[in-house]
Amino acid sequence: MRDIWILVQLRQGTIEEFAGGLIAEACRLAESEGRVTAVVMGPTSETDLAGLGAYGVARVLHVQSPQMIRYQGELFARSLGNLLREHSPTCLLMVQTAITDDLAPRLAALLETGLVRRALDFTITDDHHAAAMRPVTNGYLFEEVLLPMIPLPIVTFSPSVLFDVQPDRTDQAAVIRITPEDVSAAIRTSVLDVIEAAPEDLDLEEADIIVAGGRGVGKDAAFSIVHDLALAIGGSVGGTRPIIDWGTLPYPRQIGQTGKYVAPRLIINCGISGANEYTGDVPISLT
Ligand SMILES: Cc1cc2nc3c(=O)[nH]c(=O)nc-3n(C[C@H](O)[C@H](O)[C@H](O)COP(=O)(O)OP(=O)(O)OC[C@H]3O[C@@H](n4cnc5c(N)ncnc54)[C@H](O)[C@@H]3O)c2cc1C
Repeated sequence: MRDIWILVQLRQGTIEEFAGGLIAEACRLAESEGRVTAVVMGPTSETDLAGLGAYGVARVLHVQSPQMIRYQGELFARSLGNLLREHSPTCLLMVQTAITDDLAPRLAALLETGLVRRALDFTITDDHHAAAMRPVTNGYLFEEVLLPMIPLPIVTFSPSVLFDVQPDRTDQAAVIRITPEDVSAAIRTSVLDVIEAAPEDLDLEEADIIVAGGRGVGKDAAFSIVHDLALAIGGSVGGTRPIIDWGTLPYPRQIGQTGKYVAPRLIINCGISGANEYTGDVPISLT
């Protein structure tokens, strides 16, 4: 029986926006006989976790320890790695975010297994291989990757392919509390301080409010109007490709097909025409 595992991430203690879409992908892979298991790491509401059953999750493994208040790469990777070794699920799926950008390679190295990042599609073939599609060369080409099923493959999905899915059943998921093994002896780094970024510098993928500027704003000093607006309303600053090509903003500030896929609650676009590579195929998904 397929046991498809997903990592459901928390954003300030609440379940990430793309969880429904990720669960839908997991249900598709589980087929009629399999089941979907969600792993959630850190403090959150157990009622909300049980509610994942309405989307098709059979059980939730809620991993909690006092150290898991915030993400710490080594701790999360080792704790999740131990669980995966113990249960040997079919595969592990996650949404591509700033956290899984760090976590997924750590896990793949620990388990000595294959990882596909920013997958657009993932299937299990009839001859029992994992097949994933991912963009390469800045999205100009797509690559199909085949992986063995053992050890389990790890896949992070591009948020652009995960649609907003509504719950379609009344089931509740079984929530199993897990106290992770003490891995402190194996951890070689400690977080001394966490410096909150100014909203303007917040990672675009994490930002609730974004102010973005395009060619119509102009380069260099002219672009300061976008920074001023972002500062005034607590938004993060982004730009279109011309703004990045001009060097007015660095590449991590580019939104679009070959930049960041973003999911803010509000985005204000200034001097932007809305080209397909900027808006199309869901690089911007409002939540
Ligand atoms: C393979 C590929 C990948 C790409 N990836 C990306 C990507 O990831 N992100 C991205 O952004 N682009 C990407 N592009 C480029 C994309 O096609 C567009 O060229 C780009 O998004 C246009 O940026 P823009 O809206 O800033 O500029 P323009 O399309 O030139 O639009 C400027 C807008 O500003 C308006 N304007 C002009 N003057 C003023 C004014 N004084 N006040 C107010 N408005 C004004 C204009 O009317 C126009 O609507 C990609 C292209 C390709 C081929």
